[in-house]
Parts: sequence; structure tokens; C-alpha cells
Amino acid sequence: MATAIITGSARGIGAAIALRLAKDGYDIALNDIAESCFENNDIIDKIKAEGVKCEKYIADVSKYDQCEAFVKSVKADFGSIDVLVNNAGITRDGLLVRMSEENYDLVVAVNQKSVFNMTKLVGSVMMKQRSGRIINLASVAGLYGNPGQMNYSATKAAIIGMTKTTAKELGPRNITCNAVAPGFIHTAMTDALSEELRAAMVKQIAMGRCGEVEEIAGVVSFLASKDASYVTGQVIEISGGLSM
Ligand code: NAP
Repeated sequence: MATAIITGSARGIGAAIALRLAKDGYDIALNDIAESCFENNDIIDKIKAEGVKCEKYIADVSKYDQCEAFVKSVKADFGSIDVLVNNAGITRDGLLVRMSEENYDLVVAVNQKSVFNMTKLVGSVMMKQRSGRIINLASVAGLYGNPGQMNYSATKAAIIGMTKTTAKELGPRNITCNAVAPGFIHTAMTDALSEELRAAMVKQIAMGRCGEVEEIAGVVSFLASKDASYVTGQVIEISGGLSM
């Protein structure tokens, strides 16, 4: 049985990706930053109901040593690691002149350094296996910028560069690396926005609505599938036509 690791997967897009990959037949290694993320949460039961193995691993993916222990445990528990989805991400929005250095550094650590940590560690396992799929969560903010998100857009643009470099370095070992760039997706992250801001955003979307988490999970499922075996180094925008 093949195994997929999804970081930051107790809720939101990560949980939807984990459930979709479970439906595709993968054993699932869930991750989040605290045990409390899995309390009053039925994601593990939903995944197990698909008939696959599912374990949760508590690790702050911005910390290299915690990622090292996490990846080592997954390898020991599951044997192989076939898919890595670098999903964990946070926002600490604010206009540039008011943004604190602390909030800049925190977002870089969680959104960007985590991708280095996990790709380096899981990439080594995949190189030995001579196969693997890595899928990174970028954002339209990394492609086009977004006022109030200097920190966040910087990390999401960086992830696009990291995706292309990983694709070039690991391609010869039959490992693909792609990114998805969601637009406005209906999650806790976007629920935190004011009604006014949300209405203004929806006006810019060709399809006239926010996306649903399952619409991100479906594209990730394709990138992990056999059908995507010759797709690498690409960024797929999933935004309902936001950028046209
Ligand atoms: P979410 O609902 O906030 O979920 C993110 C998950 O990551 C949470 O469970 C969070 O835990 C966890 N997490 C945070 N810091 C972590 C750390 N250091 N180590 C491990 N786990 C950590 O966010 P989402 O909307 O599903 O977003 C998922 C990804 O998609 C992110 O990379 C985001 O940037 C990207 N994205 C989202 C949208 C959107 O519209 N929602 C658009 C474009 C891109 P806590 O519950 O403790 O915070």
C-alpha cells in the first residue's frame, strides 16, 4: 500500500486532501502542530472508514528537528513514503508599514522553511525508493501579490521557486514536484475575512464564488496519480478564473 503525508491536515484544505487521497487508496500520515487540533475532530474516523491505515503525528513543521522525528516515525510505521503534500500554512496579515518583524519571520518559518524541512527529509526517502510525488500549496498571493500579505505572498512565491528547483533536482530519480495555487477557498482562513472584503473578492472571480476544499483536493489527487507521471515543475492555479 502506498503512503501519503499531508502536513497541517487536521482541518481545512489539508484534511480534504487527506480524505481524498484515502479514497484513492493511500495510507495516510496526518500531521498538525498540537494534539488539540485532533480533538472534537472526525477526520481520522472518516479516513479509516475508507479502509486505509491512518496515523497522526504531532510536529511543528517549521522546526527541522521535529520534522526529522516525524518523517522517521512515518517511515518506521508505514515502510514507504510515496506522496508528500506540503500544506501547513498560516497568515499574519497587515499592511507593510505596520507589519511586525515577528509576524514576517513566523510566516516565513511556517509556510516556507517547512517546505525545505519536509522536502529535504522526505525527498531523501523518495530518492532511495526512486519514486515519489511532492505537491506544494502555493497561492494566488504568490503569483500576483496581495495588499496586506507581504509576508504570506513572499512565502508562496518562494514555494513556486522551491517547486521548480525540487522538480529539476529530483526528476532524474522519478520524483515529480508540482504546486497548486488556490484562490479564495472556503476555509477558516477565509472565514476570518470581513463580509465586505469577501464580497469584493468574489466580484473578481469569473465563476462568481469561492472554491471548496474538495476542489483543491481533486487537483492534488490528479498530481499524485499515474495520469500525472510526466507533469513536473508546474503551478496549477485553482481560482475559478480569478486572474483572467
Ligand atoms: P487552515 O484551515 O488554517 O489549516 C492549516 C492547518 O495547518 C491547521 O490545521 C493548522 O493548525 C496547521 N498548522 C499551522 N501551523 C503549523 C505548523 N507549524 N506545523 C504543523 N501544522 C501547522 O488553512 P487552509 O485554508 O486549509 O490552508 C491550507 C494551505 O492552503 C495553506 O498552505 C494555505 O496557505 C493554502 N491556501 C489557502 C487558501 C484559502 O483560501 N484557504 C488559498 C490559497 C492557499 P492550527 O489549527 O493549530 O492553526
